[in-house]
Amino acid sequence: MDCLFCKIIAGEIPSNKVYEDDQCFAFRDINPQAPTHILVVPKQHIESVDAIDSTNSAVVGHIFEVIAKIAKEEGLENGYRVVSNIGEQGQQTVPHLHFHIIGGRDMTWPPG
Ligand code: AMP
Ligand code: ZN
Repeated sequence: MDCLFCKIIAGEIPSNKVYEDDQCFAFRDINPQAPTHILVVPKQHIESVDAIDSTNSAVVGHIFEVIAKIAKEEGLENGYRVVSNIGEQGQQTVPHLHFHIIGGRDMTWPPG
């Protein structure tokens, strides 16, 4: 499948890996928006949050356990943000479900 994140998971494209298990893979964003910027993706190709249903939602709960673990390892005890962009208006650029962990600086709200 011609998917950037599937290729990263398969090791066909190099990445700065932070965590891996049988269900998910986490790596540092190539264009970090904060001192900590990590992407957590399911190994299964799911296009976005909009494609989550009862057949594939279990991995999302697992990913959020992993997010909490990574945040502790990264020292984000003062808080951080988890973001998932969806589709064209959501500014999603890679059509493989991913959760951004962004931290290490004060965030702004509302998002742009
Ligand atoms: P989104 O715009 O929400 O779809 O997020 C895609 C993210 O993937 C962006 O923050 C990019 O900087 C990041 N990205 C694109 N290519 C790579 C890559 N080869 N390795 C790591 N991160 C990447
Ligand atoms: Zn994919």
